[in-house]
Amino acid sequence: MPSEIRLQTGNSVSAVRIENIFCIGRNYAAHIAELGNRPSESPVVFLKPTSALNTGPIIDLPAHSADVHFETELVFLVGKGGKNISEADALAHVSGVALGLDLTARDLQNQNKKLGLPWATAKGFDDSASLSNFVPLSQVGELNSLEFFLHVNGEQRQHGKVCNMIYSVPTLIAYLSQVFTLQAGDLIYTGTPEGVAALKSGDHLRLTLPGQIDCEFSVA
Ligand code: MG
Repeated sequence: MPSEIRLQTGNSVSAVRIENIFCIGRNYAAHIAELGNRPSESPVVFLKPTSALNTGPIIDLPAHSADVHFETELVFLVGKGGKNISEADALAHVSGVALGLDLTARDLQNQNKKLGLPWATAKGFDDSASLSNFVPLSQVGELNSLEFFLHVNGEQRQHGKVCNMIYSVPTLIAYLSQVFTLQAGDLIYTGTPEGVAALKSGDHLRLTLPGQIDCEFSVA
């Protein structure tokens, strides 16, 4: 459970202390459909504790769930905090980009949704915020043309395209900063594309942002 992550810029590596972990739900239409959810009129926001962070290479599944799903997401590191940030300024507040797994205890989440209860135990357990290394935002090129992939045991299971996000990254940052004062070291998980499914012991996951990030995890 590291609360510090490393940000690589060229040849230098800096340590960044993680503050809040914001997560966005229901940001890709095909994923909303696969879970039988309805699109939301404003971004769906939840948080994870920093104890959920895991930079790999092992994922330990929690004992309190029998149905932990992978959700591969683009993750943004806030480099400069602020309140009421405009969409036009939003990307100037981002320092890094990573791929993350918003691991979800789907059995508990479904139960909690039915009962109208919070998602913390379904979304915030140890290792539920698994993360690749970060690369600088300035290094990844045009944000809207980014695509990312998850392979499980060598088979492609998720293929995300930033252009398919319902709420763009600048919109999400502007929205979050109206509600929360963003701080340097905050993470923003931006939602998963379709293809989510359960993990099992022995699974091997490979997350790629072609040319930028290539990161592997094994499920214990
Ligand atoms: Mg998610």
